[in-house]
Amino acid sequence: MAAEPQPKALTRKPLLLHRVEGSQEVVNMAAIVPKEDGVISVSEDRTVRVWLKRDSGQYWPSIYHAMPSPCSCMSFNPETRRLSIGLDNGTISEFILSEDYNKMTLVKSYQAHQSRVMMILFVLEMEWVLSTGQDKHFTWHCSESGQRLGGYRTNAGACGLQFDVETRHVFVGDHSGQVTILKLEQESCSLVTTFKGHTGGVTALCWDPVQRVLFSGSSDHSIIMWDIGGRKGTAIELQGHNDKVQSLSYAHHTRQLISCGADGGIVVWNMDVERQETPEWLDSDSCQKCDQPFFWNFKQMWDSKKIGLRQHHCRKCGKAVCGKCSSKRSSIPLMGFEFEVRVCDSCHESITDEERAPTATFHDSKHNIVHVHFDATRGWLLTSGTDKVIKLWDMTPVVS
Ligand SMILES: [Zn+2]
Ligand SMILES: [Zn+2]
Repeated sequence: MAAEPQPKALTRKPLLLHRVEGSQEVVNMAAIVPKEDGVISVSEDRTVRVWLKRDSGQYWPSIYHAMPSPCSCMSFNPETRRLSIGLDNGTISEFILSEDYNKMTLVKSYQAHQSRVMMILFVLEMEWVLSTGQDKHFTWHCSESGQRLGGYRTNAGACGLQFDVETRHVFVGDHSGQVTILKLEQESCSLVTTFKGHTGGVTALCWDPVQRVLFSGSSDHSIIMWDIGGRKGTAIELQGHNDKVQSLSYAHHTRQLISCGADGGIVVWNMDVERQETPEWLDSDSCQKCDQPFFWNFKQMWDSKKIGLRQHHCRKCGKAVCGKCSSKRSSIPLMGFEFEVRVCDSCHESITDEERAPTATFHDSKHNIVHVHFDATRGWLLTSGTDKVIKLWDMTPVVS
């Protein structure tokens, strides 16, 4: 092929379609109603609201429902129009929305947790309501009988919760930075394994049941892609945020991961790209390039009358190198580093411009995002922020 190093546009700049305003406090979670010009939101101001687009082009509430406690999370099932809402007081309330989205009817409530419900997931196939709470518990209930089926104590409160219907595995990502994988039976669960890779708490999880890949976002600014389907224990780090990763969403049809940060950054990752794992950092008492001793290597410092140097690591080859031998910086998108990182001089030379082409696009939502929801049918992204505003974006990819 002729050399045409034109990086492909993965998405055009997200186009702001609507601002949905009116909540008194932070909108903790919200979802786009598929096939309707509607949005469902739950807020710290204790309200559940359904917003419909009116003839004026504005979104106005068709439902405004006050709950007894701040609403921390929700799960909406469009097929059954079932809305499960987690509250700050530990209760989960289940509603059915009317077909025209003008009314909601309480079906039942579960006293699921001792304190704030952090995450909730309704699984229609099993008729299960899965939830995590600040009480460091994962629990699941039968949504038909309302019965509590079981529970599991986690390391810390968990903001990440995903479920694989096919194998009945649940993924729980907690504030200690750990992801716990449990196998659920009707009334029991067993620990399968735990993933430890983050240096900060897990803030979000996203499961791709097709490729069988789990993404975990963290307050350490990174995302890890755990390749379970590959069966080789591969874990790829994605470094593209300057702040806490707050929420993740996966667009199956275009194989794009959408991640949002506390600083308002939206990153769209092309997951069709084959990325490599970052190397283990090697240990050495002297620079593996110029052989100068590191500062703790008193013997060599004495023998060669040299001053000890600080140890650094090349992000590409993992070698222990001195500052002088790693003076250059480079992005290494195929290792997940979309930002420039330290590399040794020889690796710097070996990285081609083609390899430096970004594999993600970066956008500024201009509000501090707490939650995102992606509607694949229209390619719309919803972001809700600490500014109490919900924004709707058109993310439709432009084929270039
Ligand atoms: Zn050196
Ligand atoms: Zn290197």
